[in-house]
Amino acid sequence: MKKIINDFALLICMSLFVISCNSTQGKNLVIEKPIQAIDTTIVPPQRIELLDSSEAYWKNKLSEEAFTVLRLKGTERSFTGEYWDNHTDGVYVCKGCGLPLFTADTKFESGTGWPSFFKPINEMYIKNINDESHGMVRVETICARCGGHLGHVFEDGPAPTGLRYCLNSISLNFIANAKIANK
Ligand SMILES: [Zn+2]
Repeated sequence: MKKIINDFALLICMSLFVISCNSTQGKNLVIEKPIQAIDTTIVPPQRIELLDSSEAYWKNKLSEEAFTVLRLKGTERSFTGEYWDNHTDGVYVCKGCGLPLFTADTKFESGTGWPSFFKPINEMYIKNINDESHGMVRVETICARCGGHLGHVFEDGPAPTGLRYCLNSISLNFIANAKIANK
């Protein structure tokens, strides 16, 4: 009798084991949605609608580091960002609102350790404003749509503009191999 009970208990244990295995396999069998082919042609907006979001919105949307730079005008340490040494073709968009800002073909080696560009996709997409903080007189560059701090612009860049947009990687997202429509 004792053996029968033991055998019965063993059977239950084995059954539970099989059920749990099956349920695990079931989870593994969930088929993820297939990844859609991404259209890498970005159609730039013809006009900019200002995005006036609250601090709480940005805190929720951005990482702490991105919030510090984009919303509090911080600066990432040089040679530490994701894009200063990025040589892939593509489009850089605002991390705050996704507005396309710069293309890889206007990026150049500035030696500063920050991604540097000589020309935005459209002058309308950025705003340059005087910045006299930290005891310096500089021109700050912000995203024209969301007001996010991107970096500064200096007049020691290469031809044809002579400008150097010195930006924080963390203010940007990079879409590899994307193209701007009609460019
Ligand atoms: Zn933006």
